Amino acid sequence: MNAAPADQIRLLDLQAIDSRLDQLAHRRRSLPEHAEIEKATADHTALKDLVVAAQAQLGDTTREQTKAEQDVDQVRARAARNQLRLDSGAITSPKDLENLQHEIGSLAKRQADLEDVVLEVMERLEAAQTRVIELTARLDHSTVVLKEAEQRRDAAFAEIDAEAEKVKRDRETVAAVIPADLLKLYTRLREQQGGVGAARLYQRRCEGCRVEFSITDLNAIKAEPKDAVVRCENCGRILVRTADSGA
Ligand SMILES: [Zn+2]
Repeated sequence: MNAAPADQIRLLDLQAIDSRLDQLAHRRRSLPEHAEIEKATADHTALKDLVVAAQAQLGDTTREQTKAEQDVDQVRARAARNQLRLDSGAITSPKDLENLQHEIGSLAKRQADLEDVVLEVMERLEAAQTRVIELTARLDHSTVVLKEAEQRRDAAFAEIDAEAEKVKRDRETVAAVIPADLLKLYTRLREQQGGVGAARLYQRRCEGCRVEFSITDLNAIKAEPKDAVVRCENCGRILVRTADSGA
């Protein structure tokens, strides 16, 4: 293949532009914010589950408290009724009186036990309320952390994308003047060779693979016609000769 030396030099410009675009794409993929967002999202999801569980626990305990208070009220009401009957003097049978007094005693004991239950449930209720408050605060904080990381990522994206847009416009300008067959070869080699399709011959080295040429090989390369498209023997990339190719 043949191409004017100026077009071969332009290929180096194109390579620099493509390498810059690759760098930008790599930077976009490897922003530290990606890992931060992943972690913050996992934390946020886990906390959301914990808040839901704590709220369910709070709901259960609230119902338990209502039930425990109703139990106390029932016993208290029954004891009050019994006391009224006793005080009314309507019951005269000694056996009935004894039974009633006995029941009043039992109810007092029962009421004391149930009041202990109410206290115990209240303690758990307070703990459940505290847990909901704490977890909700942590969930709110994790929302802020996540949002903040997303904003930083989006700001970095905007900056990278703006530069990439500008570099792509430069690329169009440069690529437009390179002959189609040379561009096609470069594109194929770039795909095969990790993003570098054209390399400068600089001080006896291929800048694509860093191999150093012997004087004999170098002289053979330099002896090729100026418009010959030379390929590196080692890596196969297009080797572009310049004033600094070496002697
Ligand atoms: Zn090479």
